[in-house]
Amino acid sequence: MGRRPCDLLIRNGQVVSMDSLRSIYRPGAVAIAGSRIVAVGADADLRDRFEARKTLDARGGIVHPGLIDAHNHIVHTSCRGVFGNIHDTGSSTIKFADWKAGVTEIDEAAATAMAGLEMLRCGFTMFIEPGSLFSTDAAAAAVERVGLRALLAPLYLWDRRECFEAMPALESRSLMARAPVDRVRCLRQLDAELHRNHDAEARVRGYVFVYGVGTGSPELLQAAHACARENDVPLHLHAGYVPEEAEIYRALNGASQVAHLHELGVLDEHTVVVHANALDETDEAAVHESGCQIVWCPTAFFSLGIGGRMRFRMAERARRGVRVSLGSDGAFDCTPGETMLAAHFEAQTYRDSISPGALLEMQTINAAAAAGLQAELGSLAPGKRADVVVRSAGSAEAHPDNNPIHRLALTLRSGSVDTVLVNGDLVFSGGRSTRLDEAEVLQAVSESVAVRAKRLGLDLAPEWPVVG
Ligand SMILES: [Zn+2]
Repeated sequence: MGRRPCDLLIRNGQVVSMDSLRSIYRPGAVAIAGSRIVAVGADADLRDRFEARKTLDARGGIVHPGLIDAHNHIVHTSCRGVFGNIHDTGSSTIKFADWKAGVTEIDEAAATAMAGLEMLRCGFTMFIEPGSLFSTDAAAAAVERVGLRALLAPLYLWDRRECFEAMPALESRSLMARAPVDRVRCLRQLDAELHRNHDAEARVRGYVFVYGVGTGSPELLQAAHACARENDVPLHLHAGYVPEEAEIYRALNGASQVAHLHELGVLDEHTVVVHANALDETDEAAVHESGCQIVWCPTAFFSLGIGGRMRFRMAERARRGVRVSLGSDGAFDCTPGETMLAAHFEAQTYRDSISPGALLEMQTINAAAAAGLQAELGSLAPGKRADVVVRSAGSAEAHPDNNPIHRLALTLRSGSVDTVLVNGDLVFSGGRSTRLDEAEVLQAVSESVAVRAKRLGLDLAPEWPVVG
């Protein structure tokens, strides 16, 4: 029998497949035809079985499925060094919410392109954006230019404002003017991004995100859930962000937030609760009973400074079968590449360890499930989309090379990626974008931030004098 043709054969890698057996092949290979993976296996086996139009030698580097950031307000990446801490903006009269509201279409496109390049450099091929973009079309175009995948949601869906008292940094007059707290608007916009899903090949897709943290009425939450179910997309919402929110929610509704969501019929295996830091026992029971998913944002948790008041439950949830995935929330003080490391340190802080393998599952297959795309993404297996990352074997961080799971979860971060394919397309090669002039993208985001700060009257000077 002749050899089967394929478009690309990635050879001579340490292939961490994330398949159902968690198989590692070394030396291993991945065969790709069009946008799909057709085989994963031992290098010698695939070499004999496939006639490849093109071959890529991984030179012993780790080959893995593209990482997925399950929660990333992508445009906030450009907020680095603007606010030291978004919850403590010092003497400035400009709040973080004003900064959010002061964004233009140009700013959103610039921030998305820069953050997208950074994602590729960190081995990510997809992110889930939680409804903080005013121009989703501009962001979608930037995502497509970079060559990533993304899930986009309608703009800030909220129709109750009482809980903002617990999170004043999230509210401002300017933001509420652009994204009114209004049920009619929100009900009308629930399915605003779902038109993208009509094209089965679309890399930028839509889902439903309700802002949550007590800002949604039962009517809005139930309508959002119904819309998500009718359209076969996940419903995400923030809940249990900080302890004060949980207290206000209980005072207003006479019930704990997640338990209340369960009572309202909003929680099921397609509902994803983002943060879940501050949940009480009844909330916790609702998580387990309902089968809902959770997105854990460890860097955001550390930034909030609430660790001393929290009971850490993520390791226990994962052990008990809750599908926990990882998100960066906003990469202000980090890159998405530090999320697994931060999760490791958070778990260690509370003396309830999570293995590197479990962290990797949270950033791949579980995050694909949070996107509702577990049949298409999250592992290297025949039939799945060819979203594949090849790490450089030449960096010190990749050695010793005995345990690729440990390396991937904890030491290989930004700059360790050599090649990225998304949907079978080569979008990153030799540590550079194949599609964009990176210097131009980076200059554009710095210029956009400078202009935006000037518009808002915000001083961007560093804390030490610039003397030269
Ligand atoms: Zn968020």
